[in-house]
Amino acid sequence: MKEADKRTIIDELRERLAGSEKSYDLSAVDRAIETACRAHSGQCRASGEEYVCHPLRVAGILVELGMDSETIVAALLHDVVEDTDWTLDGVSRQFGPDVAALVDGVTKIGKLPFTTREEQQAENARKLLLAMSQDIRVIIIKLADRLHNMRTSEGWEEQKRRDKAKETMDIYAPLAHRLGIRTVKEELEDLSLRILDPVAYQEIEEALALREEERARFLETIKSRVRGRLSDYQMEPYVEGRVKSITGIYRKMYIHGKAFDEIYDVYAVRVIVDNVTDCYNVLGLIHDLFRPIPNRFKDYISTPKANMYQSLHTTVISKEKIPFEVQIRTWEMHYTAEYGVAAHWKYKLGIQRRDKLEERLAWVRQFIENQKDVDDAEDIVRSIKTDLSPEDVFVLTPKGDVISLPVGSTVIDFAYTIHSAVGNRMVGAKVDGRIVSLDYEVRTGEIVEVLTTAAPGHGPSRDWLNIVRTGEARNKIRAWFKKERREENVQQGRAELERELARNGIRLPDDQMGEFLLTQCKKQHCDTMEDFYAAIGYGGVLLSRIMPRLKEDYLRMVKAEDIPPERLVTAPPRHHNNGGVIIDDMDNCLVKFARCCNPVPGDDIIGFITRGYGVSVHQRDCVNVPKDLAMAEEPERWVRVSWEEEIREEFKATLHIDAADRRALLADITTQLASMHVMIHAINAREPKDGSAVMLVTVGVNGLEHLHSVITRLSRIDGVRRIERRNQ
Ligand code: MN
Repeated sequence: MKEADKRTIIDELRERLAGSEKSYDLSAVDRAIETACRAHSGQCRASGEEYVCHPLRVAGILVELGMDSETIVAALLHDVVEDTDWTLDGVSRQFGPDVAALVDGVTKIGKLPFTTREEQQAENARKLLLAMSQDIRVIIIKLADRLHNMRTSEGWEEQKRRDKAKETMDIYAPLAHRLGIRTVKEELEDLSLRILDPVAYQEIEEALALREEERARFLETIKSRVRGRLSDYQMEPYVEGRVKSITGIYRKMYIHGKAFDEIYDVYAVRVIVDNVTDCYNVLGLIHDLFRPIPNRFKDYISTPKANMYQSLHTTVISKEKIPFEVQIRTWEMHYTAEYGVAAHWKYKLGIQRRDKLEERLAWVRQFIENQKDVDDAEDIVRSIKTDLSPEDVFVLTPKGDVISLPVGSTVIDFAYTIHSAVGNRMVGAKVDGRIVSLDYEVRTGEIVEVLTTAAPGHGPSRDWLNIVRTGEARNKIRAWFKKERREENVQQGRAELERELARNGIRLPDDQMGEFLLTQCKKQHCDTMEDFYAAIGYGGVLLSRIMPRLKEDYLRMVKAEDIPPERLVTAPPRHHNNGGVIIDDMDNCLVKFARCCNPVPGDDIIGFITRGYGVSVHQRDCVNVPKDLAMAEEPERWVRVSWEEEIREEFKATLHIDAADRRALLADITTQLASMHVMIHAINAREPKDGSAVMLVTVGVNGLEHLHSVITRLSRIDGVRRIERRNQ
């Protein structure tokens, strides 16, 4: 049976190659198939399948992505050097140095599995990115490799599945997004989400009225109905459509706090026409063909968005009663929407867009550049996560150059992106001609001008480290302090260290303290105490990172030297990794709080043993908990849980606030919460047309009693009519 499988996969691969528009070097591919089969013969995957099926499938994915012969050949051979007695030289002799270089790149990335330890992860990510900057095809092969592994992850043990899923979500899916490979990105995300949050994944799956294949078919029918009707009017527009991925829906629900029913763009169809008049004509025809949902029509053509985005948006209902969004725009509007404002000018001027791959490579190279002189691993991880985050803003210099920054970047980030000298001399900024504060967050389409001074000795302020968003700006600011302000760094570092020592209750007689700190200083590879203070001052040594170890050392020393009890610090608070919940008959079990009902201490609760992630804790009266457990589908999965006596964690609760709308209502609510030191996690506000305001505020509380006092205080705010805790 195994042999037959392999044969089928090979036949499929050959068919795809033959059917492709590209002309492939079929003899090289055939030789690579032969080689892979021979080299891997006798090896099996965790699934029991013959090993060679894996490289064959990976090659298949890459053919679908339209990759070239060398990439396909390298994909077929990507595991032979690692797992068989083939050498890189052998590959090079048989298939050429380029293929060998690709195989080498993929092997190197694969050799360094990410672990949950951040330094390790960062180190590997750096190598991965380095490899990527040499030849982007290495990353594309790696993405296809990861995709096939995630597709066949059933055979792995649970922890490995979760680790790989996390890594895929954090590193690979964002990379696929950056490279513009949407299908791969979405599939990687969905496969990971299914492992990381199986409950939510399944909920969304079930909420989608149609199954996966049906969703694609539904979209096709809609597209052809639109095309058909338009062709009756001699219009032949370009029509494309997409189904929102499960992860896309998940984000809307859990990040933007939308209910499933409020997501109208699960299906979306885009119609692109030649001129503005046709946009409105098409809109009329669409509204004639499908029933529009009231209040869902938006004319961004007559009123463009701030970032110059233009389109007509409407939501209509198919005859199957499924709503879908339709976007109608011209080609010019389309380029602006897809490639940002820069494309708009280029389109107008008739300039061809730069080669996409080249642009992406440039990004990768720049990214590597910024990492070079960072020596703190945590920073690298942070940079990767922010710099790879799927949303960017594009802002313009006064000269019209487009600068891309991660969402949330400030004018200071902008200045340092232009040049460190610009950042270091910055005294202020203008956005669209208006003076703004330095923590102003830039938005797509804005023109940003940095105001600088030539005054000698001028430099950045330490506060900026808390304002900037990009790792690049942070590193450059630190570099300046390291170089220019030795005296100040020493002072600052000493003060910071003293403050932290006091805060942690670390007290010793002076001589002992001196000795103790000198040991810590050596541990950070500093020669003198002064160097140590300076390093803390400019941020080369992060106190937040070294304090836990320092405290441990201190406690050990105190214990060993039997220092009198009045000098002892209180032990650090016990760390609950179980969220303050006790599960009957189970120790050390992973616990998460169900997002459907967000239980807080004091609530009556119950646990459900999930397949993917320990125990999920619900409120007893949550709609997702069967009323009669004996009648539940899998009664053995429901377990008794209770709250611990002493809980130090924070819990999220969502409040539904109904109020008469007035000015500054939201400000009063947030001020009240701030005065109670209640953390706000999310706010969603809606204004129904009747002069009322409806808000969903997610706050952090330490239990039911705390929650009730928050509700009481908020209820006293002028205009607030009703506050309810929301479970869904
Ligand atoms: Mn592989």
